[in-house]
Amino acid sequence: MTLGTHAIIGAAIGSVFADKPGTALALGWVSHYFFDFMPHWDYHLRSAKVDLENPLNNDLSRGKDFYYDLAKIGFDALLGLVLGVLFFVNLARPEKLVAVMAGIIGALLPDFLQFVYIRLRREPFIALQKIHGWAHSSYRELNKKPSLGFLLQLSIILVAFLIGNWRLFR
Ligand SMILES: [Zn+2]
Repeated sequence: MTLGTHAIIGAAIGSVFADKPGTALALGWVSHYFFDFMPHWDYHLRSAKVDLENPLNNDLSRGKDFYYDLAKIGFDALLGLVLGVLFFVNLARPEKLVAVMAGIIGALLPDFLQFVYIRLRREPFIALQKIHGWAHSSYRELNKKPSLGFLLQLSIILVAFLIGNWRLFR
């Protein structure tokens, strides 16, 4: 799932657990695996070298494509961060910012740890990579339907927005 969607889910969790940043971080982290488990659309990475036989051999090629991908991933994560803060932190309760940030960091960690794994290829990152791969949906058909995939992620964002702002609707 895109980092933006993961980040907004994490921010919503932080908003619900506004005075428990530790809980927000942990639940944000767990939410990443849960939402990767759902069939979803992901954008293509030019530098990805995929080994279908053994995903633990997946790699990223260095060079121009890698920096292009890094810019795309960075923009995706930044967009999620900005929207997450805009959606769930208001001036009346600025203290929520800590929990919302913790939720976002937790939700983005598993994908960040994939980079660490690819660089280091040693424990505990091997185990974490295995968990991530195991949790990740093997249904890839949605990648062929980007507009449907995009709409589905937009719906998840909308639901996250409503849950994170439930106080507004009481
Ligand atoms: Zn992931």
